[in-house]
Amino acid sequence: MFDLRVENARLYPMAGDTRPSGATSFAVQDGRIVMLDTDAPALEIFDAGGHVVLPGLIDCHTHALYAGNRMAEHVLKLQGTPYADIARAGGGIMSTVRAVREATEEDLVAQTRPRIAALAAEGVTTVEIKSGYGLSTGHELKMLRAIRQLGEDKNGPRIIPTFLGAHAIPPDRDRGEYLAEVIDQMLVQVDRERLAQTVDVFIESIAFNLDEARRLFDRARGFGMQVRAHAEQLSASGASALAAEYGALSCDHLEYLDDAGAEAMARAGTVAVLLPGAFYFLRETRVPPLPLLRQHGVPLALASDLNPGSAPVASLLTALHMGVILFGLTPDEALLGVTWNAARVLGRDDLGALAPGRRADFTVWDIPDPAFLTYQLGGVRPQAVFIEGQRRI
Ligand SMILES: [Zn+2]
Repeated sequence: MFDLRVENARLYPMAGDTRPSGATSFAVQDGRIVMLDTDAPALEIFDAGGHVVLPGLIDCHTHALYAGNRMAEHVLKLQGTPYADIARAGGGIMSTVRAVREATEEDLVAQTRPRIAALAAEGVTTVEIKSGYGLSTGHELKMLRAIRQLGEDKNGPRIIPTFLGAHAIPPDRDRGEYLAEVIDQMLVQVDRERLAQTVDVFIESIAFNLDEARRLFDRARGFGMQVRAHAEQLSASGASALAAEYGALSCDHLEYLDDAGAEAMARAGTVAVLLPGAFYFLRETRVPPLPLLRQHGVPLALASDLNPGSAPVASLLTALHMGVILFGLTPDEALLGVTWNAARVLGRDDLGALAPGRRADFTVWDIPDPAFLTYQLGGVRPQAVFIEGQRRI
């Protein structure tokens, strides 16, 4: 007797391609899919009504945990105020850092919950959240503990933390000293408290350089942690090749990726995470080199990048749509980018597809085909959402 049988489904497993499986039912046991196309008895039957059934969506790159907002800065920018003036007036990332430092762990959880709920309402069943607005040991750990607390919400999506202490260099700190704190204090404590298993870094002329990233990656590897990198967003730096050398799960942004970087990523199996929300909000003009990524066979993922500065986009479906319209992804690439390949980014081979052995995270949609999600912008919501076989919506 299985726990749950889903029947009358048009199943799109997304296990590497976007074709329907032809199966109309599947069985769930202990939170995992155990069998497709079965009429075996189950304690509970869910009738999918002949609708499209997809894996739960995965948002694999967010900075969703923060305090306050940057709306005033946004309005100033729209009025033409130069960024330097905004920064002098206390805007920019440091205004979020200040707000996060002033917030308690409970404040951070409470302010973030509505954003996570917005993602969940769209069928997102797994959300990655980075630290990176604390920029001191105590505040970075506070962020990670708040992220862990969000993951304990009974009705919320699965939350996957990433440690991003190397997000920016606090303006009042010596860069060498700050990096040493990230490596010798924060990382040690993150490992000790098991607060994250993945380490991310912003490699850019305005943030950390290749040598600094290498020191961080070396130490992370020593702890058995996986690495990711914000790479080639504003300039070509060789960041992707360095991250790939460390077997990075992903390189993210990649607007300035070159041939050598793409080749290194393909060899290492590193996923390219594309973030059209930031491209849109910052009115950027340079798109990531999709032909290069395709030519080398680099797997592609899409994410919301939800953050208060460059992408206040609490919608993975919007990012999916932007990926197709602004970056030129095919609907198939976009759909695999928020399921199958997004699971890879998180190092989770139990997520991202409807296949035996995977977690029973699935969504039910009254749409003619999954590609409809790349067609209509707004107003599309799943009719039902299950996480590990438990109904959430
Ligand atoms: Zn980011």
